[in-house]
Amino acid sequence: EDPSKPKGPIKQFAEPDPPFTDKVKATFVTLARNKELYDLIKAIRGVEDRFNRKFHYDWVFLNDEPFTQEFKDLTSAIVSGKSKYGTIPKEHWSYPDWIDKEKAAESRRKMKEEKIIYGDSESYRHMCRFESGFFWQNELLDEYDWYWRVEPGIQIHCDLDYDLFRYMQDNDKVYGFTISIHEFRKTIPTLWDHTKEFLKLHPEHVAKNNFMDFISNDNGETYNLCHFWSNFEVASLNFWRSKAYRDYFEYLDKTGGFFYERWGDAPIHSIAASLFLPKDKIHYFEDVGYNHGVYTQCPLNDKFRYEHRCACKPDSDFTFRGYSCGKRYYDMMGLTRPVEWSKFQ
Ligand code: GDP
Ligand code: MN
Repeated sequence: EDPSKPKGPIKQFAEPDPPFTDKVKATFVTLARNKELYDLIKAIRGVEDRFNRKFHYDWVFLNDEPFTQEFKDLTSAIVSGKSKYGTIPKEHWSYPDWIDKEKAAESRRKMKEEKIIYGDSESYRHMCRFESGFFWQNELLDEYDWYWRVEPGIQIHCDLDYDLFRYMQDNDKVYGFTISIHEFRKTIPTLWDHTKEFLKLHPEHVAKNNFMDFISNDNGETYNLCHFWSNFEVASLNFWRSKAYRDYFEYLDKTGGFFYERWGDAPIHSIAASLFLPKDKIHYFEDVGYNHGVYTQCPLNDKFRYEHRCACKPDSDFTFRGYSCGKRYYDMMGLTRPVEWSKFQ
């Protein structure tokens, strides 16, 4: 017998803390390319250290190409729940037959000249269409009710000592976000007009006590470009599976706007959540310190930051800055802004 070898099977992770036994049907979900592996594992490491080591939720990885063995080995070594890998079916990442590809190419050329962000990118459009209409249809997600979207490179700045998924479920929430922001108008010139046509055809999908006031300053006449930044979402899969959302996505998809313009999944998710849900089903995770790219959410209360061992600088908080929709969110939800807010405008 070799004393250096363990006797039984190796347990990869220590016995979980008590909340582990009380899990809801939830998973992380990440869409990523193989080349993003090393930015992604930093993000996963952060999510695990701040949250998931206490809960061991699963993680679903999706890609339009097959994942490499290295990608699978490294991510599954870090995720404390089960890791699952899916190659996206072609029907979820290609041109539908009603799209005029020459017209789509012409629009990309024009948007490139106008220097619109990702304006010339074909893959970005497939990505946005996938995140709008198809990720929640992937069979790997069928067994779950809730998901938390994680992108490569994101950071979680503070300890999260409670189960965010369970919070959503127990409090009857549907859609949770951290950062809200204005969209670039040139990426969605006709999105609102199509949305208004859809609402005329399907008034039955509009919820009572919806959050129209968050996305429109004039009762729905025009879109004010506010949206929840969808690179972070803790939300219900059943919302996207609903008739209202399916009808909306199909309607939008038929217009070709994902390809003839450059519609993002963030404004589409946000418009849907704001119109098809009563506003009290939307939850703002103001306690989640978060960074993606140039924008950060950092809790402004000193005591909170110390107690949750936050690693962010409050000056970096975007919530009350010009391009954010944070102020509007607080006001239209009827919530009181944190007392510190005016010092961080
Ligand atoms: P941004 O956040 O809007 O700047 O866009 P990103 O480049 O971060 O893309 C959003 C998400 O989609 C990220 O999780 C990316 O990893 C993923 N993504 C973007 N393009 C592709 C692609 O062509 N293939 C795959 N598999 N994932 C992609
Ligand atoms: Mn991103």
